[in-house]
Amino acid sequence: MGSFSPEMLQELLPQYYKRLFPYSHFIKWLSYGNVDKNYLAHREFSFTLEGDIYLRYLTFTNQAEFETSLKKKCPIKIDIGAVYNGRATEHQRMTNFTPVERELVFDIDLTDYDDVRNCCSGASICEKCWRYMTVAVKILNSALTEDFGFSNILWVYSGRRGIHCWVCDPAARKLSGQARSAVAEYLQLVSGGDQVTRKVNLKGETGVHPSVERAVKIIKDGFQQLCLEDQDILGNGRWNKVLDLISDTDLKNDLEQTMQKHNSSVTRWNELNSKVSDYVNTRDWKKRKTSKAILKEIMLQFAYPRLDIAVSKGMNHLLKAPFCVHPKTGRICVPFDPLLVDKFNPEEVPTVSQLLDEIDKFTSTATEEQKKMKDYKKTSLKVCINVFEDFLANLGKSWKGELIAKSDESMEF
Ligand SMILES: [Zn+2]
Repeated sequence: MGSFSPEMLQELLPQYYKRLFPYSHFIKWLSYGNVDKNYLAHREFSFTLEGDIYLRYLTFTNQAEFETSLKKKCPIKIDIGAVYNGRATEHQRMTNFTPVERELVFDIDLTDYDDVRNCCSGASICEKCWRYMTVAVKILNSALTEDFGFSNILWVYSGRRGIHCWVCDPAARKLSGQARSAVAEYLQLVSGGDQVTRKVNLKGETGVHPSVERAVKIIKDGFQQLCLEDQDILGNGRWNKVLDLISDTDLKNDLEQTMQKHNSSVTRWNELNSKVSDYVNTRDWKKRKTSKAILKEIMLQFAYPRLDIAVSKGMNHLLKAPFCVHPKTGRICVPFDPLLVDKFNPEEVPTVSQLLDEIDKFTSTATEEQKKMKDYKKTSLKVCINVFEDFLANLGKSWKGELIAKSDESMEF
């Protein structure tokens, strides 16, 4: 049951939008407690329709308008843009039309890991390479909460091979373009691509930044399974990518011989570890090019999150909304709990056809009373909407604060 193929999409989407899309939650989120009455109305939405038809600069003043439009147009993709200083529908008539607020967003995609991904490439993913995403979520989530103090963070599976992160704290939404760039660059140690040259340079003879140290610790926890066992980065014909990160020729040659003497990534890594440590500890730092942080640099090079920072820097960059249906996989772009990311398996995320089947199945044995329940509660989408509800409940605390501040302001008159 429930298997999905892309040609079914046009038939299933009307039912999804009619019965399952969580309109009230979605609009509650984007209204942000109506602290600013125009917040929703000034937001840009964009729909992609079948046949590469893009509808940009759409706006909605309330849930009913949004709901009617979705049901009528059945977009294969919904994108969320910035909040502007006026309604996006009026943008051609306004001379100073400009984005004023926007969630701080991050986009991570497994295709940016293709140079360190040996199990799959391109659009395909499996449990093994998904672990890169797990590591990315842990590292980014801890940096955003501990280094920046953000607490309203929504993590969403993109439906195929990536994840999106929406930082929704009032302070994050108010960040200027320049501040967004600074945050994105602070968080970018490694960029994706095919180059095998070293991108991480910690310059660390004495110590590295605490945020980087924390990232190393997270990577270390899963390094053996992810990089050595599953991705086999020191496998035959692969170890050069690692050795190329070492600048001292004598050390590199010695390691090359060591690699040949052993036959698994795990034993090769252990040998490399002790040889490199010996080397950096017994030579004066002025007489070697390899730094004491080299092992950390290697781990970061292979497993640190690879961000598409253009998405984070731009205030008016569009990003796919949660609860879209991925047109190729049929999977729902569901929110997930970052603290339970180890348990998140993208292959278990429900597809639109599966959800519709689940409703039918439920209905066939349900009592009259049970049939009255909202349709999503009859399906496995319920758990994902619960995650979204928890996020909204936490977000509600920030609205309260803002509303109190606002009423204090008006009291002063
Ligand atoms: Zn894979």
